[in-house]
Amino acid sequence: MECIFCKIVNGEIPSNKVLENDKFLAFHDINPIAPIHVLIIPKDHYEKFDSTPVELLPEMAEFIKEVAKELNITDYRLITNNGKGAGQEVFHLHIHMVANPNGKLLWPKL
Ligand code: IMP
Repeated sequence: MECIFCKIVNGEIPSNKVLENDKFLAFHDINPIAPIHVLIIPKDHYEKFDSTPVELLPEMAEFIKEVAKELNITDYRLITNNGKGAGQEVFHLHIHMVANPNGKLLWPKL
């Protein structure tokens, strides 16, 4: 298995975990672009948003809210890069959660 995020799920590669349950995992990005930069992934492998079953998304949304509570933040930005042309580099669905609890969030705003 070559997927780096599957290896994180399996514990083959260490990660700085924020929260996990049986279906999802949240961990700190290794190369943060904001004071808080967390990646939220399903434990099962789906390449990207486009190829993820829609049934999983409501549960993932609930998990994302729990991650924000765990981090004690109310203001944050969520991004997923869907495909190479959109900047996706790791092909295992992940949602970036970025925040700056102490000031303005400078990371690209749409
Ligand atoms: P993408 O460009 O949307 O695919 O984002 C991939 C993200 O994964 C980048 O922000 C990387 O810094 C992050 N990343 C890559 N490898 C690791 C790792 O081993 N641990 C945590 N984050 C990682």
